[in-house]
Amino acid sequence: MTNAEQQLATSVLVIGTGGSGLRAAIELAEQGTDVLVLGKRPKTDAHTTLAAGGINAALATMDTADTWQQHAADTLTESYLLADPATVRVVTEGAAESIKDLERYGMAFAREHDGRISQRFFGAHTFRRTAFAGDYTGLELQRTLVRRAQQLAIPILDSIYVTRLLVDDNVIFGAYGFDLGHGTRYAIRADAVILATGGHTRIWRRTSSRRDENTGDALRLAVEAGGRIRDPELVQFHPSGLIEPEDSAGTLVSEAARGEGGILRNDLGERFMKRYDPERMELSTRDRVALAAYTEIKEGRGTPRGGVWLDVSHLPRAQIMDRLPRVYQTLMDLQLLDITTTPIEIAPTAHYSMGGVWVRPEDHGTDVEGLYAIGEASSGLHGANRLGGNSLIELLVYGKLVGRAAAAYSAQRDVQRRSRAALSDARAEVDGILHGDGPENVRFLQRALRNAMTEYAGVVRDEAGLLRGLHEVSELEERLTHVGVHPDIAGFYDLAHAFDLKASVIAARATLEAALERRETRGCHNRSDYPKLDERLQVNLVWSGPGRIDREPIHAIPQDISAHMRAVSADGKLVE
Ligand SMILES: Cc1cc2nc3c(=O)[nH]c(=O)nc-3n(C[C@H](O)[C@H](O)[C@H](O)COP(=O)(O)OP(=O)(O)OC[C@H]3O[C@@H](n4cnc5c(N)ncnc54)[C@H](O)[C@@H]3O)c2cc1C
Repeated sequence: MTNAEQQLATSVLVIGTGGSGLRAAIELAEQGTDVLVLGKRPKTDAHTTLAAGGINAALATMDTADTWQQHAADTLTESYLLADPATVRVVTEGAAESIKDLERYGMAFAREHDGRISQRFFGAHTFRRTAFAGDYTGLELQRTLVRRAQQLAIPILDSIYVTRLLVDDNVIFGAYGFDLGHGTRYAIRADAVILATGGHTRIWRRTSSRRDENTGDALRLAVEAGGRIRDPELVQFHPSGLIEPEDSAGTLVSEAARGEGGILRNDLGERFMKRYDPERMELSTRDRVALAAYTEIKEGRGTPRGGVWLDVSHLPRAQIMDRLPRVYQTLMDLQLLDITTTPIEIAPTAHYSMGGVWVRPEDHGTDVEGLYAIGEASSGLHGANRLGGNSLIELLVYGKLVGRAAAAYSAQRDVQRRSRAALSDARAEVDGILHGDGPENVRFLQRALRNAMTEYAGVVRDEAGLLRGLHEVSELEERLTHVGVHPDIAGFYDLAHAFDLKASVIAARATLEAALERRETRGCHNRSDYPKLDERLQVNLVWSGPGRIDREPIHAIPQDISAHMRAVSADGKLVE
């Protein structure tokens, strides 16, 4: 073990090796700009690899009437009018070109017999618009981008945990961190920094993110650097996450299980969707099914472990093996459970952060000069509900665009900033946590935070619960100052978990305060004390620190897009 400090310098630093970070780095390298990429988990295994269903672009390979304007209109409709129209335009208009780039990098898209890229329905899209690579679109995307990055010899250090962004007088000049294996510190200087560190869904107990992923690092890093957070309360819950085993709680059971004829029952054996959507039953929309399951559990008709039953065992075994192979395999691997004979215990699971770091639509620059944010870390595209398949395309379109913007920004700098004070603050922060030997255990506090968020800021919220949640977060903020961290020969993971917790506590506070402020029910955000949509709240909520929330007006939707807007049914279409 060593505490030596490594000094590095680059033109543009990318933090995050998921789809968005890699795509930005590729653009920078293709432009001839010096770039370095950091990540806190192996580059071949970023969260992006989990994406299954597909990626959207109005290619019109299947439905020739499709246009980017229609894609934009569907995105805005699904967002309950909280998406930023300019951001939506950038993504939908740039989507086809981004798919072409992926073809150029050799991505193995599913194709029709004549070579056209296949596209399928996915959620509330007017047309078949989702391109895919089997059931493993995210994995194939990540492999494709890693391969391209290797061809371009892009340096990637994927065992570096970034603890702080380095800022002087509101201008970014790098980042500070440590190596997870041996603890070596890294002070990295850069003209521009791109934050591609994912969302904050791991602050709930059940989440489709894996352990130590999506702990809210983007929110903490940005806010501490002087940035702001937009709409942190807008988090999408997926109806079917596993309950067990605890460290995989929330792992998704694909909505295909309901699509194929799966039946939902409460612990009394009642087919409860009759109460909530008697016509569509289990084929109702994701938010309604999540709300229904949540209500059954809250009202005491759930299983003793707090779930409901999803049963496909009445379907022919051959159908299950043919159409739901990933669900079958996941349940076998995690629970040794045979879904052809036994029902699955599920509960709603936090799935996607629609809010994130505040960014400008034109270049995803933040309030801090030279700092950019992309991917699930950023905000603007999804509003109060994400259209299935829109996340992956956002990574690519903005990855490319931000790569270019950061390259141009770097090229016009005359000097590279430095601040010894900022650097020594960053060092002191790591030292402080590392040498603290308090009685509090990080994993225990993480669990307490997740329990509080699940109890008070889950699928349905109300003022009393949110205030209670804030009270518990205040207690955790205090206890966090007494954690004991014990790196050992195996590595500095304990230190990383302490920083994860710091980030999660900030993300939780932002989420609770914004959820309190949004006194309405809209899209993913259900307030039992304000059950109706409030037109005066057709605004974004921008959080800049404890107790500071501003309302940001949303620009009008241009006529060439609004002309295409109408409600689109998601019946019988999968969304993941
Ligand atoms: C089960 C599942 C299915 C999905 N299916 C789809 C789908 O079909 N279509 C779709 O469009 N979307 C889908 N999504 C959503 C989509 O996969 C994600 O939104 C997207 O991949 C996020 O990519 P990203 O680049 O923003 O971040 P990530 O892939 O989360 O990468 C974040 C990176 O940041 C790094 N990082 C974080 N904090 C730090 C730190 N402090 N220091 C250093 N590095 C750090 C991590 O190591 C990682 O490399 C799905 C999600 C899940 C969970």
